[in-house]
Amino acid sequence: MSTDIRCGRLDPEEIRQNFSELHTPLTELQAIQESARCLFCHDAPCTEACPTDIDIPGFIRKIASGNVNGAARTILDENIMGNTCGNVCPVEELCEQVCVKNTSEEKPVVIGQLQRYATDHLFNCGIQPFKRAAHSGKNIAVVGAGPAGLSCAHRLAMLGHTVTVYESRDEPGGLNEYGLAAYKMLDDRAAREVAFILDIGGINIETGKSLGEDFDLAELRRNYDAVFIGLGHNTVKALGMDNEDSDGVYNAVDFIEIIRQEDLSTLPVGRQVVVIGGGNTAIDMAVQIKKLGAETVTMVYRRGFDEMGATEYEQQVAQTNGVLIRTYAQPHRILTQDDQLAAVEFEYTKYSSSGQLTGTGETFELSADQLFKAIGQALDVAPLQGGEEPELIHGRIKVDEHQRTSLPDVWAGGDCTPGMDLTVTAVQDGKIAALSINEYLNHG
Ligand SMILES: Cc1cc2nc3c(=O)[nH]c(=O)nc-3n(C[C@H](O)[C@H](O)[C@H](O)COP(=O)(O)OP(=O)(O)OC[C@H]3O[C@@H](n4cnc5c(N)ncnc54)[C@H](O)[C@@H]3O)c2cc1C
Ligand code: SF4
Repeated sequence: MSTDIRCGRLDPEEIRQNFSELHTPLTELQAIQESARCLFCHDAPCTEACPTDIDIPGFIRKIASGNVNGAARTILDENIMGNTCGNVCPVEELCEQVCVKNTSEEKPVVIGQLQRYATDHLFNCGIQPFKRAAHSGKNIAVVGAGPAGLSCAHRLAMLGHTVTVYESRDEPGGLNEYGLAAYKMLDDRAAREVAFILDIGGINIETGKSLGEDFDLAELRRNYDAVFIGLGHNTVKALGMDNEDSDGVYNAVDFIEIIRQEDLSTLPVGRQVVVIGGGNTAIDMAVQIKKLGAETVTMVYRRGFDEMGATEYEQQVAQTNGVLIRTYAQPHRILTQDDQLAAVEFEYTKYSSSGQLTGTGETFELSADQLFKAIGQALDVAPLQGGEEPELIHGRIKVDEHQRTSLPDVWAGGDCTPGMDLTVTAVQDGKIAALSINEYLNHG
């Protein structure tokens, strides 16, 4: 039984190198060469596949002609977090998956990297391409300063409204600041994007203010002309097992947050690490703890590779970083010694003839200094209570195609509403909601 957890398993320089860019930024020459590969398709399938409807051939054509800031403007017009999305979007399942170059050359145009190239260029030039419309006299409350809330706030501010964003944490940005993998969001990229969004004016952020604690929904509805809710996922799922609170057992999202905020060489890292889950969070956790110097990292998922929430590309990133992925096994027991994690026992799983996933009764044990639980996040509806509440569906806030909830003056978007849990879809939800709020404020 082992309990080998310590800081600084690798020297700081090695850690720094391990957490360097996943993709090296394109040079000017590479960007021009890559943009020249685009066929500027009519009815471009890449644009169809983009959740924020960016005119992809349009921005690539601008890069090809040397109008890089114009390209950035085309991107940001539809997706104000186009810079983050250029780094973290699962492009292999969205725009790049459907690029026609996959057929002719077996390699798509690297749309994500071009998007990042253009928006980095604009940020580095210090250009603010957006202006606020004349003040409308309307005030809107946004709850949550994540991608959904900030996207909504920016579009509303552009349309001339005044926005107050209430955020429970100390810093805005949501999971862009606290959740996305450190090797995808280097330096102060998330904060730089937030500063760019706020630069338009008309948006006041109140940090350290929580819905359900400092105020309730009824109060916001009384004091503002409309409300947008972008709470994200505010709770994590538990295994429901004995010893889940032992030393050495962590919620992956909590540890990832520490990775994003603290000096990497000061973090506790186990020699043998187990991660439970099959989504992005599990992959990001496994990859980052390996990059911090864990000797063995085993990610265990109860179903097969095809059913993982993490894309095939993300699975490959994990494997090329030395993470062992084991499938068809579920946690059975957490074994401890003196209240310290020692091992995790798993039971093999299989599908029954009726298609049910069941345990086979056979088990195996993995010694572990650290166990990270990444079995999913959820919405805790407690902050919404205390007055008339929006209707829910499958544990999330029910919205129509305009992101409007069952309450006529309340909209919602991002992870707290149904749909894919991605930065890009949260940004789109916020944008759609803002346009709908604007319509409501102007025409009722
Ligand atoms: C570990 C991890 C890795 C991920 N990796 C990727 C990736 O590579 N690519 C990708 O596209 N997506 C990724 N995602 C998903 C993506 O981060 C989310 O889909 C996106 O951030 C959702 O945006 P949001 O605004 O809905 O929620 P959030 O980003 O969670 O923001 C919600 C905000 O609301 C605040 N808040 C919560 N409760 C209250 C309250 N009561 N009062 C006031 N404020 C409150 C929170 O503090 C937070 O700032 C990842 C998620 C995780 C957890
Ligand atoms: S599908 Fe590919 S080639 Fe066609 S416009 Fe989009 S990026 Fe260009």
